[in-house]
This record gives sequence, C-alpha cells and structure tokens, in this order.
Amino acid sequence: DEVVNRVAAGEVIHRPASALKEILENSLDAGATSIVVTVKDGGNKLLQVTDNGCGIREADLPILCERHTTSKLSKFEDLSAMSTFGFRGEALASISFVANLTVTTMTRGATHALKASYCDGALDGGGARPCAGNPGTTITVENLFYNVPTRRKALKSPHEEFAKVLDVVQRYASSRTDVAFTCRKHGEARPSLHCAVTPHRIDRLRAIYGSQVARELTPMTLTGDADGDGDRAAEYSVDALVSTAGYHSRRTTFILFINDRLVECAPLRRACEAVYSAILPKAEKPFAYLSLRLPPHTLDVNVHPTKREVAFLRQDEVVERVQRALERRLVEANG
Ligand code: ADP
Ligand code: MG
Repeated sequence: DEVVNRVAAGEVIHRPASALKEILENSLDAGATSIVVTVKDGGNKLLQVTDNGCGIREADLPILCERHTTSKLSKFEDLSAMSTFGFRGEALASISFVANLTVTTMTRGATHALKASYCDGALDGGGARPCAGNPGTTITVENLFYNVPTRRKALKSPHEEFAKVLDVVQRYASSRTDVAFTCRKHGEARPSLHCAVTPHRIDRLRAIYGSQVARELTPMTLTGDADGDGDRAAEYSVDALVSTAGYHSRRTTFILFINDRLVECAPLRRACEAVYSAILPKAEKPFAYLSLRLPPHTLDVNVHPTKREVAFLRQDEVVERVQRALERRLVEANG
C-alpha cells in the first residue's frame, strides 16, 4: 500500500544528501568517468546527476523502480560475495515513492536516448519516450518529499542541505580520483566543486579541501589477515592519508571507505579521534581519509538499513592497528 511504501522509502531516503549518495553509487557502478551534480534549493527542489556510464537498456526501464529490481545480483549465492553494496534494488524505487523522478538514459551505440518518468514505483503511463542525448544516464529528482510532510518539515535550510549534498560529493571525489566530479548550484556559473581525473589522491584532496589540509597529510598503509585462518588469500588492507596537524576547522573530517563504499564505523572513528584529541591542541580539528579493503565474506553491511554503519570480522584488531599506526605518525611529526 502506498502509505506503507512511502514510510519505508523515508527510511532509506532521509534528505537530499542520502538520495544523492545512492544515485552517485549507481553512477560509479555504471562505470562513469564523469559525474555532474546540479542542485536547486539544497536539493529540496531539484537534484540532478548526469553520468557517462553504461546507460540503462530500454527493456529494463519499465521495471527500473520496482523494489528489488537490480542488475547487480543474479543469484542468491552472490549475496555473500557481493563486492558492491548496491545489491538490494531499493534506491530508485524509494526515490520514486517520495519525489518526482525522471530518468534519461542512452546505452553506448544506441541511436537515441530515452526519457522515462516514475511515480510510486511505476513507469508513468506514456512509457519511455525517445529524445536527444549522450551516452550515459541523467537522474532527475524533483520536489523531494512533496507527499511526506513530516520528512519535508524535518529538512534543514537549503543552505544546510546543500552543505550536506556537497559533503557527499566531496567524499566520493576524495575516493574516486579516476572520475571527474562537478557539483554546482542551479543557475550559478561557478561550480562549488570541480575536479579533473588525477593519478594522485593528494592532488585531489588539495583540489577539494585546500592546500592547507593537503600540506599536512601523510600516507599510512597496513595489511593483515582478514579472517584469522592464516590464509594470505583473505587479506585486509588500509590505505590512508591522515593529517599530522590540526586545522582551525569547526569539525573533524573523517572519511571512511570500505571496498569503495562510503560508510561509517563508529569504533574506528572514535579510536582515531582519541589519538588526535590526546595530541592536537583542542581548538584544532584533524583530517583523515581511510580506505579499507576487506574480502566481502568478512563484511556485514546489514547492520543498518541505509548501509552506512558497517561491521566486519576482526574489527577490533584492525581498529587497534590503525590507532597505533596513527599514534606513531603523530608522535613522529610532533616530536
Ligand atoms: P541497486 O543499485 O541496488 O541495484 P538501485 O535502485 O540503486 O538498485 O538501481 C536499480 C538498477 O538501476 C541498478 O541495478 C542499475 O541496473 C540501474 N541503474 C541505476 N542508476 C544507473 C545509472 N546511473 N547507470 C546505469 N544503470 C543504472
Ligand atoms: Mg544503487
């Protein structure tokens, strides 16, 4: 029933930034090397993402927004071996229940693009219509929560929602240096974020967060046995850039990716913050970017329905090793 679906959708999509996270992940899964985000009124009015990825086949359009429609899972056993987190086919369906959703898409080699609008999980009456376009996909989300007053009222000002949207783009841009990202407010000529493909993460971080942050970053890497059976085939690795000084910033920037997905891991974050707060002056906030690679079978992404908070095997050991390594870095750098 529609109300139930709407409430369920509101659990997946909380605000423009959470819709954007899902849409960006889809673009990256589609192999995009260029992603452009356009935002109006903090995303409350308009959130548009254009990618140059593989596009969506015409035959897939009618069912695109049905729940559990996904091209990323062929059989049940794949669940345990999923290397992408986007295996549930919930995101576009959820968005279609709480906003006006339009998809324009063109697969490589097609003669034209197709445009389709969705409402409450279903393709709008007229079906997909041919139109001009470029290979790739544009997802347009308008009037988010037009039919969910409680969620709409819980939204912050456009200024604050835009900051959250931009933060998500900045984080993904930190991770995927092989993809060009642009984020702009609708109608503004100068983008809020624009970064070209670069081989070096430090250059990307400088472009996003400024040279002051980049100057104090130092690399930190670790590897270890992921499941404790002594088999080198199941290794975890940590590849990080961490600040050795603080900044006069309002808050800590702690960016965590696990297997290329933006996630939260509260114990890991707290461990890093504890090291920093013991060593840095109180008014100065640190910056840390961490990328973990874990064998998919050691990862539990179902801790939270929005897939943000994750848990994994031997988490305590990994957290402790990161903490010790960070402590060494800070002690070395600060005498
Ligand atoms: P999931 O990502 O979990 O599969 P979604 O609801 O996020 O579920 O997306 C449903 C499907 O729509 C995806 O599996 C994919 O096939 C297709 N899709 C969505 N966005 C894009 C995109 N930008 N490019 C190509 N295909 C896409
Ligand atoms: Mg998805």
